[in-house]
Amino acid sequence: MASAQYITTAAAGIKSRPGRPLQYFKGVGPVRAKRLESIGLVTAQDLLSYYPRDWERRHELQDFNQPHPDGRVVIRGKVSRVQIHLMGAKLGLFKVVLESHGAFVQAVWFKRLSVRYDVFKKFRHEIVPGAWLWVVGRSEPSLLEVREVHVEEYYVENDGRLPADACLHVGRIVPIYPLTEGIPAQLMRNMVFKALCDYAGDSEEVLPPEIMQKRDWMPFSKALWQIHFPDSAELLEKARRRLAYQEFFLLETALGIKKHQTQRTQKPFHYELKKHLLTPFRKRLGFDFTASQKKVINEIFRDMQAPYPMTRLLQGDVGSGKTVVALSALLLAVENGHQGALMAPTEVLAEQHYITLTRLLRGIGVKVGILTSRAAAAQRQKRLKEIAAGKIDIVVGTHAILEKEVQFPQLSMAVIDEQHRFGVRQRALLRNKGNLLDLLVMTATPIPRTLALSLYGDLDVSTLTEMPPGRIPVETIHASEKEAFDFLRGEILSGRQGYVVYPIIDESSRAAEPGQNTLKAAKIEAERLQQKVFPEFKVDLIYGSMSGAKKEKVMQAFSEGKTHILVATPVVEVGLDVPNASVVVIQEADRFGLASLHQLRGRVGRGRQASRCYLVGDPATHEAEARLRILCETNDGFKISEQDLRLRGPGQIMGTQQHGEWEFKIADLFRDLDLLEMTREDNRQILEKDISLVQPEHLTLRRHLIDLYQNQWHWIDLA
Ligand code: ADP
Ligand code: MG
Repeated sequence: MASAQYITTAAAGIKSRPGRPLQYFKGVGPVRAKRLESIGLVTAQDLLSYYPRDWERRHELQDFNQPHPDGRVVIRGKVSRVQIHLMGAKLGLFKVVLESHGAFVQAVWFKRLSVRYDVFKKFRHEIVPGAWLWVVGRSEPSLLEVREVHVEEYYVENDGRLPADACLHVGRIVPIYPLTEGIPAQLMRNMVFKALCDYAGDSEEVLPPEIMQKRDWMPFSKALWQIHFPDSAELLEKARRRLAYQEFFLLETALGIKKHQTQRTQKPFHYELKKHLLTPFRKRLGFDFTASQKKVINEIFRDMQAPYPMTRLLQGDVGSGKTVVALSALLLAVENGHQGALMAPTEVLAEQHYITLTRLLRGIGVKVGILTSRAAAAQRQKRLKEIAAGKIDIVVGTHAILEKEVQFPQLSMAVIDEQHRFGVRQRALLRNKGNLLDLLVMTATPIPRTLALSLYGDLDVSTLTEMPPGRIPVETIHASEKEAFDFLRGEILSGRQGYVVYPIIDESSRAAEPGQNTLKAAKIEAERLQQKVFPEFKVDLIYGSMSGAKKEKVMQAFSEGKTHILVATPVVEVGLDVPNASVVVIQEADRFGLASLHQLRGRVGRGRQASRCYLVGDPATHEAEARLRILCETNDGFKISEQDLRLRGPGQIMGTQQHGEWEFKIADLFRDLDLLEMTREDNRQILEKDISLVQPEHLTLRRHLIDLYQNQWHWIDLA
């Protein structure tokens, strides 16, 4: 992902002269340079922000009986005996007895033997009785008196001192980098050290001086040194927080400026509540809005009628009725002669919205069109023409809407459903489709308010706090397939329908799931269910890579009640809205995340009848077990999301890892929440005085933000 790469590198605040290509580093060369490139490392500059994934205390162990927590030991000892054993023709053992703090330790190297050269030559030469040696390795339980270490790295002292380059690897806190094949850990550490020596001093201070002072941060160059080669655990943590703060600060400042700009720019259009569409729409609905929906619709209408573009986040649990809220907003735009767009993350959801909107708007004279990337070329061309001619009032689609050829002459209101599946960038692209249009983004994955406000610094938040009336909470049961199917049969006999969800579509997708060659696949299972388990009913199948037309047909048949059981892959996770369905059976439930399970469960309980969700599967880990238990215990999306945060961390939950903008290099949304709040306060302090960042002490920050965001996304206008 180019943008993520770019952001994360630049987010470190590293600038100035281009770094030396890594190919010319000692020990690298063209082959290793290629490998490094594959993990995003091309020049010395890239190394500066290639932060360790962990750190190891590699100080000399005083007592062999107390290894470091991960079982690793670091021993400095004097060589007292050296032995070589050949174990058959293939394997050789090099054994050294070390004397360390009055005890004896046996260090062991295993080496595959070679007919061409003496694999132990180097050892024999370097490791001689009387030499002082450092070994790093795993301590192995040994039956003998003497302790044994399987050596991973070793360093020989010269005249009672470690050679300079060995000092990076032992006797200190040592960085552990994410590596790739063919790049030894030592090489990586040596390279980073060299890069720091040559370039760390060049790096600019991005944080304004008043913030540096207020928070007493260490200089950026020092933070770089300390994050890679910390002098102490305290300094490491200080450096980590300093860099994490900077990551948050840059994003928050950008969001703050963005918010300011949107609030300052007048929309070129304005809406009136004409109600010639809204009223008939409400009448046709067949239900009244809940108080919560009314409140939220009012908030949205108020924003839409304000002179500045709206950017609002609508949170509401699965099934809380976000679609009709969105539709109200779209209709207000259409009433006023504008176009609306509704963007969904999957084709199934787009199809579902299309079906729903067409049904709800039938006879009102609003034209709805659908645009996905799976549409046939001719049809797509036709649709594009209609949109461009303003003949379609509301365009529903996937990210296909964002493509350049899609031209909306009168777009004024855009909705993004399940927005956590999209990134800031896509949000910005959609916004740029119209002249300062109003934007409503919706999500069923609520996150704690502090986090929402900080992360969505450029959004206002509305929340649907109640469910439509008459909903009976879905009962969730962890049970066997047989139990689930028996219940499903009973429900169908009394006129209901059900879903059976499988994690993958066919065997070929198993390959992508390492170690999962027993996963049940939807295609085969659908056949089995039809032939063997439910021959008396009609079973159908839906999955992601199906053609758009086919999907539409399957969904239509199911919503009309023509099929009884819909076998599906997780494509139905967000989307299908068939109130008559009262059972969802989730197979291999232990394989799904909490948020997915909650969404899948949300496919039922949409009508007035009692519904059940069956979780079938044997959790193999404590975490999987916890997920199933939580799901059985609660239906509350907020609670589930809190638990999810605990289990997985926020980046995963908000889908931000796919998009990169909240994928921080060093900051941890959970652990460093206090820093995030701090940056909100601090950037307000800066922006209140100097929103354009033109004061001399803000120029570096300004340049960095332009580099980071403007050129990539065109969503922040500092020029
Ligand atoms: P979500 O918030 O998950 O997107 P939907 O918008 O799909 O939820 O709504 C779920 C179901 O609830 C739909 O069938 C919708 O028609 C229905 N619904 C929405 N609002 C109400 C209401 N006020 N009263 C009754 N049913 C409602
Ligand atoms: Mg929805």
